[in-house]
Amino acid sequence: MRAAIYRGPGEITVEEVPRPEIESPTDAIVRVTHTAVCGSDLWFYRGQSDREEGSRVGHEPMGIVEDVGDDVRSVEPGDRVFAPFVISCGRCEFCRKGLHTSCVNGDSWGGDNGGGQGEYVRATEADGTLVRVPDRHADDEDTLEAILPLTDVMGTGHHAAVSAGVNEGDTCIVVGDGAVGLCGVLAARRLGAERIIAMGHHEDRLELAESFGATETIAARGQDAVDAADDLTNGGANHVLECVGAASAMETAIDVCRPGGTVGYVGVPHGVDDSGLDVFSLFGDNIALNGGVAPVRAYADELLADVLQGTLDPSPIFTKTVDLDGVPEGYRAMDEREAIKVLVKL
Ligand SMILES: [Zn+2]
Ligand SMILES: [Zn+2]
Repeated sequence: MRAAIYRGPGEITVEEVPRPEIESPTDAIVRVTHTAVCGSDLWFYRGQSDREEGSRVGHEPMGIVEDVGDDVRSVEPGDRVFAPFVISCGRCEFCRKGLHTSCVNGDSWGGDNGGGQGEYVRATEADGTLVRVPDRHADDEDTLEAILPLTDVMGTGHHAAVSAGVNEGDTCIVVGDGAVGLCGVLAARRLGAERIIAMGHHEDRLELAESFGATETIAARGQDAVDAADDLTNGGANHVLECVGAASAMETAIDVCRPGGTVGYVGVPHGVDDSGLDVFSLFGDNIALNGGVAPVRAYADELLADVLQGTLDPSPIFTKTVDLDGVPEGYRAMDEREAIKVLVKL
């Protein structure tokens, strides 16, 4: 089969690799039909995080079940399924408390299980990991493109909103206008926020944020952004969604949080270790920091229900579509900010 491979910073290739096969009774083989390039893929693409050269890439697979192991009960060959960005068992202590990202039987995509940007993946712990799309929606292309972000960015934006404590009638600020930030806006609206202030650097993305439910936008950086948020909220919002991960975004999120408020953070931390996180800025105003890597499997069913009902559609974040051979071009387009998020159709 063919799959995308990381060959070093700035270099993704599509190569022939062994096709994964059932190895354990809890495995399923999925023929990937849709996947995506992720903002978090850009960290290794830019050489800003380590990744083994020659490793498979991608972690947002959707497709058709091809084969299942003897113990798999929840899916069967022919089913349309999608998988969150980590594999989880669904039965350990952490899966049962909704913290699937800490699953003791968990795994990530990208080893010999296939990588998400390739023709086939092996889902170990298929029953705990794969989410089945009901048959009547299983071949509707528009619906599938709205479901695909549930593999990662929609669940992650939702985790930011939940972690920030967003509820009916609240005012919140979303820091970041990438795919996760935009999904954070959708999530905040879905949870009933009354005012959603989207903060970013790109006018076109902030326009999309408005179509997703942002009531106000701030296109500025650093202190200018903080000042603008202070003006709009008379001293900050009680609920702030940090959807970037860079140290500067975390600082901005804390700066625009109202005393006693909560920052829900979901961006993969970058640069925070070098500059340090100023805990005093949290201490002085009793600001809570909540969140972390999003257990998107915990949210998949409720978000899927809304997509199928037609009340949630994150698919406009896909601003470019490529085929498997176009995956390297997809990375380039996202790296150069030409695309918000790239859809890969196999
Ligand atoms: Zn992702
Ligand atoms: Zn588990």
